[in-house]
This record gives sequence, structure tokens and C-alpha cells, in this order.
Amino acid sequence: MRVFNFNGGPAALPLPVLREVQEEFLDWHGTGMSIVENSHRAKEVAAMATEAQNLLLELLGLSSEQWAVAFCQGGASLQFAMVPLNFAPQGTVCDYIDTGLWSSKAFQEAKICGSGARFAASSKDADYTFIPSQYDYSEKPQYVYLTSNNTVRGTQWPSFPTGAPGPLVADVSSEFLSRPLDLTDFGLIFAGAQKNVAPAGLTIAVIRRSFAITGQTGLPHMLDYRTFIDNDSMYNTPPVFAIYVAGLVFKWLKNTVGGLKAMEAKNKAKAALLYSAIDNSGGFYSGTAQVGSRSPMNVTFRLSDSSLEKPFQEEAKKEGLVGLGGHRSVGGLRASLYNALDLDAVEALTGFMAEFKRKKG
Ligand SMILES: *Cc1c(COP(=O)(O)O)cnc(C)c1O
Repeated sequence: MRVFNFNGGPAALPLPVLREVQEEFLDWHGTGMSIVENSHRAKEVAAMATEAQNLLLELLGLSSEQWAVAFCQGGASLQFAMVPLNFAPQGTVCDYIDTGLWSSKAFQEAKICGSGARFAASSKDADYTFIPSQYDYSEKPQYVYLTSNNTVRGTQWPSFPTGAPGPLVADVSSEFLSRPLDLTDFGLIFAGAQKNVAPAGLTIAVIRRSFAITGQTGLPHMLDYRTFIDNDSMYNTPPVFAIYVAGLVFKWLKNTVGGLKAMEAKNKAKAALLYSAIDNSGGFYSGTAQVGSRSPMNVTFRLSDSSLEKPFQEEAKKEGLVGLGGHRSVGGLRASLYNALDLDAVEALTGFMAEFKRKKG
């Protein structure tokens, strides 16, 4: 039996995509072998990866003349180092906006890489419950870095800063393709695929070409974005299976869901249902993020009696609702409502929450 999967990542993938993978697994596209047995140099595989890239740019509304896609590995965590290595060499300055665990980690990596990284804003003093709206920028930062959706704290940027003194760079891992993004002021976005797009092992960077060419030269090949761009992400063996699943998810988003605007509407409806269940529980449940900064993707909440949080998860699991524990760094509860979850999952969860409150409240 399939459960309702609220995991933070790796996370739920669309059922029609999983079925398609299963159906064509043993004989992929008439090659007489599975996708994971094919050479990445096979023309069918190259065509599949190119199609995935094109679909992704189409979904994002970006032209391939201005933007490039890099299928990287090493997780979002390697991007934390690749971004400063490529774009903030020693002797320069880059600005970070600190909204929680992942932006702090990115900042630390920039320091290790020798970049002149500094914080232009932080919500640390408020326990990362909100997205800052005032920034103390450097005069000429190489870039301004932010985490668009904070998986751990359940916050999301409702819109992005305008008029920053450098190109924006964002870690969009836990909201990738959940809503349209206005990338006018961006140089680069990246996402670990395992939150919303594909199995782990693939990290997708979308880079403005005019920004990419400003990058440092002389880096090891696998740390240089240009290696990926110039070789269509086939310089070495890419994570073929994850790219293939990502491509199917892109198709699902385009053809079944109807694009990112339609996806956003669904995600908003899901989040509204869960937040209203939390807000209307008379304090039995409470959200941890400030209302204006709430994430539709990762809904973080607590029970007024925190000793009930473990039984909550255990009983939910018996009802087929899994993955409701908060990130290990903060505890509490978290329901991740990624693209693949339908409204029925949230209805099941809010039904369970009402019943749990009736029994224990
Ligand atoms: C999960 C996550 C990461 C870490 O991703 P890895 O692929 O495991 O390195 C980084 N940033 C955000 C926002 C995340 O949600």
C-alpha cells in the first residue's frame, strides 16, 4: 500500500511518473536494456538529457540563448562551494542573507573557499522565523546569496529583493518548480533534485550565460560551471537515471499539471488547508514561522504539549501518514507538501489532526 509521504527529502514523486519508470524499465525506448544500463554516450540518452534541459527552460520561461542548465552532482551542498569558487575569488566580497541552516552552511563554505563573504541580513536573533526585508549590502558584492525556501524553518521568500547591488544567487532546492520565479535579477539558481524533482544524485543549476562567463578560470573541471555548460553536462558520466526521472517530472508538470502557474495554485490550496487547520486549532497546534514568511512547501508546526509530538507521529504513521517529524536540528513537526502530493494527502492529514486533537486535547 502506498502511504501519504510528507518527507522533507528525498520525498514523494508523482505516481504517474513512477508508473512510467516501472513500465519502461526493462526495455527503455527500444534499446533492449534499462535506462541505468545504457551508455551516457548513446544517442537515445543524449537526446533524453537534451529534451530534459529544454523542457526545464520552457517551464521556467527562460530562453536557451540567455540561460544554460547544468546537471551536476554532489548535492546542493557542493553548490555551496561551487558558487563562491566560480564567482567570488579572493579579494572580492559577496553578500549572504542568513535565513537558517542551509544559508549558514553556504556561508561557511564561501569562507572556506577564501571568499570575502559577509551577512547582509539575518533572522537568526528571531530563531529564523521570518524572511528579512532590509539588507545592509556591500558596495560591490560579486553576488547576493539567498535560500528561497527554508526547508528546516518552514519559511519562504514571498518575493525577491529588487535593486540589489549584484546579481542574485539562490538555493531553491526545496521549492524548485513549485511556482513561477521571476529571475530577472538572478545570475544563478540551483536545486538538489531530491526535494521536488527526482531521486537523489542530481543537482540542477540554471545559470545566466552572461554571468557564467564572468566565472573564474583555472578551476578543477568538475568545479567549473563552464565544463557543464560547454559539454551539455556530459563531461563525465552524469547521474543518468536521475536526469531521466527529472525529465519525466518536467513532462508531467507541463502536460498533466499545466505548468508552474497551475502548480503554484495547487500548492497554495494545499498549504492554505493545512495552515488553517493549525490556526483554527485553538492553540493545540501552532505554526513556527511568522505568517508573512510561511512556506507553502514545508509547513513546520508544534503541539502546545510537546510530549505529544512523538505519539502524533506514531499514530499518524498507523494511518498511512509518514514523514511528519521536524528536521533533526529543530525537532517539532513538519509536513512537506511538495508538488507530488495532492490535496487528498493534506485532507487526510488535517482529518487526522482534528481526530488527534479530539482525543488528546
Ligand atoms: C536539502 C537541502 C540542502 C542540502 O541538499 P544536499 O543535496 O543534501 O546537499 C540544501 N539546501 C536546501 C534549501 C535544502 O532543502
